[in-house]
Amino acid sequence: MSALHRRNLLAGLTGLAAFCGGDAWANAPAPKTVRKPAPLPRPKLVFLDPGHGGRDPGALGLRGTQEKSVVMAIARDLQKELLAGGRYRVLLTRSTDSFVALRERVARAQAAKADLFLSLHADSNDNPDVRGASVYTLSEEATDREAAALAARENRADAMISGMKLADKDDSVARTLVAMSQRGTVNDSRRLADTIVQTFNRNGFRLLPRTHRQAGFAVLTAPDVPAALIELGYLSNPQDEKLLTVRQHQLSLARALRASVDAHFAAGAATRKA
Ligand code: ZN
Repeated sequence: MSALHRRNLLAGLTGLAAFCGGDAWANAPAPKTVRKPAPLPRPKLVFLDPGHGGRDPGALGLRGTQEKSVVMAIARDLQKELLAGGRYRVLLTRSTDSFVALRERVARAQAAKADLFLSLHADSNDNPDVRGASVYTLSEEATDREAAALAARENRADAMISGMKLADKDDSVARTLVAMSQRGTVNDSRRLADTIVQTFNRNGFRLLPRTHRQAGFAVLTAPDVPAALIELGYLSNPQDEKLLTVRQHQLSLARALRASVDAHFAAGAATRKA
């Protein structure tokens, strides 16, 4: 039962009790008012997506480093960092060296009602001098394309958005729901990406120019889960490749990402209170 249903049911029952009251309960001692402690906020669910896996190794370094292994190590570090504070639940799109399709990764995060989705990658470039981290959010163009596809009747059968079924909504309502949800998600994703860039900067990590970029990555397409894809460095660059395999650097990256997640939710909570 959802919290909303529960609230409605309780409100109904309270009304019924008041109605049945009157004479029958007139002599009953006045109930003591028991102040219930405010419920603790639900821990945020952070979904981590170590890129590639299984038959797809991702980018390969000159020394043979595989992207799928590096990003898994950092995802595990980040998972530990996030869990240590007791403020988050953490799930991974893959927890083993297995192949998971991109859309399946998004579907898993949506089904679990993730509050945040972080996809971890390490880039590759024909020019071995290119190095540094970058952060991607979904481009305007890809966002519009996704909205149109999701609102299209044939895709609506089991589509859910923010816990609502789209199947029984008419065209204009479905389009409005998708657009509304998406607008908030896009803004949140961009805020998240900027926070990551600032945190990386503060920690002295090397960054690409125009660090926050926009692209049509399939893993960023959930209309109701703020998401960013982080390219943690270039495996095609010898220094970046070396750094990405150094435990201390992996841990530093994980700590900076945890600090970014903290800052993102703290800023979100402050905006809601204002
Ligand atoms: Zn990748």
